[in-house]
Amino acid sequence: MQPAHYLKLMDLGHLARIPQCRDDEHGELLTLLLDHAASPEAAPLAAAVAKGCLGHNHLWQDLGLPDRQALSCLMQEHFPRLFARNTGNMRWKKFFYLQLCEQAEIRACRAPSCGVCAHQDECFGDEAGQPLRSLGTASQAAAL
Ligand code: SF4
Repeated sequence: MQPAHYLKLMDLGHLARIPQCRDDEHGELLTLLLDHAASPEAAPLAAAVAKGCLGHNHLWQDLGLPDRQALSCLMQEHFPRLFARNTGNMRWKKFFYLQLCEQAEIRACRAPSCGVCAHQDECFGDEAGQPLRSLGTASQAAAL
C-alpha cells in the first residue's frame, strides 16, 4: 500500500496528542527510520512511527492500526532493510531501540543472547490487544 493509505489507517489525532517529550530519543528514532526509508514518500510514515514510539501502548495501537500485522506490512513495504533485519520478529518498538543501542555500541542487554534471556517475552511476546483506532487524515500527519 502507498504511504497515504497507511496514514489513512492511522489515528493521527491520537498520535498528535502523545506528548512530544524525550526529544533526543525521538530524533534518533526518526533518523533511524528516515535512513532506512525505501523512498522519500515514506517520510510521513517515519514521523508517525517515531512519534508512536513515545506512546505507552503497543506501537501498532498507538499508531491506530488495526493490528500488529499492519505495522509489519508497513515496515516491509516502506522500511524493507529494517524489516529484513528483524529476523526474530521482535516487537517493533523494542527492535528500534535495540538498533539505537547497537549504533551507539551500547550493550543494553544483560543476557549474552536472546535465546537465554529472561526477558524474551518482553521483546518477542505477542502484542495482542484491542485497536485504539479512529480514522485520521493525511493533513494531520503534518502536525506530528
Ligand atoms: S530478549 Fe533479552 S537479550 Fe534479547 S533483545 Fe530482549 S533484553 Fe536483549
